[in-house]
Amino acid sequence: MYKKPQIKAVHGVLVLESVIRIGSGLDYAIEIDNPNQKYTKFIHSLSGIDTVEEIIKNNPSLNSDEILEALETLDSYGYLEDAEDDRNNLFSDDELNKYKVNLNFFSTLKSSNKYEIQNKLKNSRILILGLGGIGSNICISLCELGIGNITAVDFDTVDSSNLNRQLLYDEVHIGRLKTEAAAERVHQFNSSVNFKAISQEISSFEDVKRIVKKEKYDAVVNVADYPTGYIDSWVNRVCVEYKIPLFAASVSKKWGRVYSVIPHETACYQCQCLEEERKNPNYLKELEAIKKTSGAETSRYRTPNGALGPACLFQGYFVGYEILRLILFGSKALTTNNKRFNIDFMSFSQNFDELIKFDDCPVCGGKNNG
Ligand SMILES: [Zn+2]
Repeated sequence: MYKKPQIKAVHGVLVLESVIRIGSGLDYAIEIDNPNQKYTKFIHSLSGIDTVEEIIKNNPSLNSDEILEALETLDSYGYLEDAEDDRNNLFSDDELNKYKVNLNFFSTLKSSNKYEIQNKLKNSRILILGLGGIGSNICISLCELGIGNITAVDFDTVDSSNLNRQLLYDEVHIGRLKTEAAAERVHQFNSSVNFKAISQEISSFEDVKRIVKKEKYDAVVNVADYPTGYIDSWVNRVCVEYKIPLFAASVSKKWGRVYSVIPHETACYQCQCLEEERKNPNYLKELEAIKKTSGAETSRYRTPNGALGPACLFQGYFVGYEILRLILFGSKALTTNNKRFNIDFMSFSQNFDELIKFDDCPVCGGKNNG
């Protein structure tokens, strides 16, 4: 039980004529019958100053069983916290203040302790492949959440044309490696984050494997678009092999897309290709043709980037939320669990395509299954 119970600071208390209302808004509010102000003094004594014994002593109009039962009920609804919760020792004073608003939000979640949730995020490890339009915004959103360990891979340098959408970089970074600029910016933004930058061009399946094997990542985010036609497939194969959840996001002019792969649970990227091939029997041939393009041919195929900043921000934060859901509640809580999210940014119309997991998928099916 609690040392010094208090109504969670995030839930306001309003004493009305015959009821006490705790919390406000959808999901948060309850009303307790309060005939003749029977519980008013008791509710006010739940301020984190008194111990349970003192609360019982200071409320003689209620017997101890009534008080213990009331505390139990409030606890079961998730309205109580301990003013002397020693789990706050998991953080420095600076971190506690930095994550104060996160902690307020986490305290609205009934099932877990707010410090334990923040600590879970602090101990998480995320790998981001690509620090461009979406990747740089995902990186910022993960720093905001307090994800403690972020590794990012890119080989590009900052160009002024990146600054319409890549929040990690400023004009002073133009010409510098994105990974170096990102490390500097992340340190300025949230120095509690252990940020590792890998300046490397990914040019093979083995490259992806070597990078992913470096640490035990909780999730991999693939927002690299090069080498076109290969990278999605390489990252998918590695993540399935090492059973690491994968998120991928893209913006194509006005359209955005996000999918996740939970190895051996949901459809993988290759499953999506097989599904496309069902609709278009030439799909895999087209994919091969894209892979084989080179030189001028590639630049003819690769149309100029037309991604707006707000679209990249949206995608970055969408993936940030998916990672939060994965870490806090597991893969079943993902909005993209076996679904692909699509958005038309001009109308904001959105839908989720149900995906098919193929038993004969060469990557995640058959003998590889589980
Ligand atoms: Zn598959």
